Amino acid sequence: MSTPTAPAPATGRPRPTPPARYRNYVGGKWADSASGKSVPNVSPADQRVILGQVPLSTPQEVDAAVAAAVQAFPGWRDTPAPVRARILYKWNALIEKHADEIAAILAWEEGKTFGEARGEVMKAANVIEFMAGEGRRIGGATLPSEMPKTFVYTVKQPLGPVAIITPWNFPIAIPCWKMAPALIAGNTIVFKPATLTPWTAQRVVELLEEAGLPPGVVNLIYGSGAAVGDQLVKHRSIRAVSFTGSNEVGTHVYTEGAKRLLKVQCELGGKNPLVVLEDADLELAAVATAQGAFGSTGQRCTATSRAIVIDSIADKFVEMLAALAKKVVVGDPLADGVTMGPSVDPGQFKTVMEYLGVAKGEGVKLVTGGKRLEDGAHANGLFVEPTIYDGVNGSMRIAKEEIFGPVLSVIRVKDFDEAVHVANDVEFGLSSSLYTNDVNRMYRFVDLIETGIVHVNSPTVGGEAQAPFGGMKGTGVGTREQGAVAVDFFTELKTVYADYTGTKRTTNIY
Ligand code: NAD
Repeated sequence: MSTPTAPAPATGRPRPTPPARYRNYVGGKWADSASGKSVPNVSPADQRVILGQVPLSTPQEVDAAVAAAVQAFPGWRDTPAPVRARILYKWNALIEKHADEIAAILAWEEGKTFGEARGEVMKAANVIEFMAGEGRRIGGATLPSEMPKTFVYTVKQPLGPVAIITPWNFPIAIPCWKMAPALIAGNTIVFKPATLTPWTAQRVVELLEEAGLPPGVVNLIYGSGAAVGDQLVKHRSIRAVSFTGSNEVGTHVYTEGAKRLLKVQCELGGKNPLVVLEDADLELAAVATAQGAFGSTGQRCTATSRAIVIDSIADKFVEMLAALAKKVVVGDPLADGVTMGPSVDPGQFKTVMEYLGVAKGEGVKLVTGGKRLEDGAHANGLFVEPTIYDGVNGSMRIAKEEIFGPVLSVIRVKDFDEAVHVANDVEFGLSSSLYTNDVNRMYRFVDLIETGIVHVNSPTVGGEAQAPFGGMKGTGVGTREQGAVAVDFFTELKTVYADYTGTKRTTNIY
């Protein structure tokens, strides 16, 4: 074990000691990568602080992880689902027990505040608890037959070894909401987390091991997308890939998967609208918009990046939003009183800064923010001011493209129809929100909006473990995640015909 290479600030939450390096977990054993190559896990709040080295594993090590998952599959498949569930319940209890420690790790390496990180940890725990319950419920259907003494039914069966490839922005919730349904359904897993958040991934798997998961059922392998991710997607023994990340990589994964007719689930980017009608409670709408735009530094797939507002109330609404943005305290995510952390890494930070330039070029009105913060406590981190632009046109780049930073575009519209048109006029379709007290327009919005999740008088962010989650259009392909339906992706539906007449018979059924 080592301490970080620069001293952590004395104030704020206690910080766990990071490992010197992260190790792969294959076939129930923790081992260093043979590649000898690694990248540092750098704290986004203080770029001088190194939280251990992340191995860049080789394609051969991916093969070994897949082999371990292949070997473990028959035993796990034949373990009754309610018995598998007991391990998930233990995993859930361990995550709850270590919630503060994991939240501190997550905040330190990813950059969201401790409170946000703790919320994410509890989301992971909720999903696991829900999925453990599914261990006693996964079922099929019994169907009437056209033939006498014939039993027709369906059964959900596991696929085999599956790959789970995850992004950095929800480094515990997303792996858990993929792994829990995969495991309860009887699949084995090779898990490739983002290299930016290795420590959280390691704790997730350590706690699974502590919960009693048999060796080889979950294998963790660190490394680059190009070497490890690609090899996983192309590996013939991998029976499905559940991917969350950017549209660029998701398109590549989906295309590669299609070449061998692989089952692939992709959850990708968002450009989520929050629509405010003239009869809305403006205060509620403004608080939700600020929360959705600046929460988790805007680094959420469900972040509110467009406020679409009826012109007659827009001046007042923007004034309220600006006041809320000015109250955001930007800084070290583990420091007391901080309400917004940094961008996750120099690449993401650069993207946000470039979009601030794009906004300038598009001639929109800067209401607040628009700059990097680099004074005093911000000097060594990747901090951007919460930023609001007004007068944005639905066809501008800042209104169409995912920025993944604390940047909100206000788009003024004349009426409900225009609001719906603008809301839908993007390639993404993850989450949306409508603020109104008009029940007719509320249901019409639900009819027309092209997003997988619709909120009414609640922010675009957030969701519950028992409810399906996922996007339409360019955001998602494959069946939904979370909720009971999540098991569908990780199972094959088999239809069984059992004839118990014991006699020969002819049939004209096709
Ligand atoms: P990313 O696409 O860069 O990386 C995601 C994962 O894919 C990482 O583990 C990465 O190493 C891996 N990868 C990279 N190249 C690969 C390849 N060629 N083959 C296989 N795997 C490869 O995404 P990111 O920057 O980590 O995450 C941010 C993005 O994720 C945003 O666009 C965000 O909207 C999206 N996201 C979507 C959801 C959702 O549910 N819709 C949730 C969270 C994040």
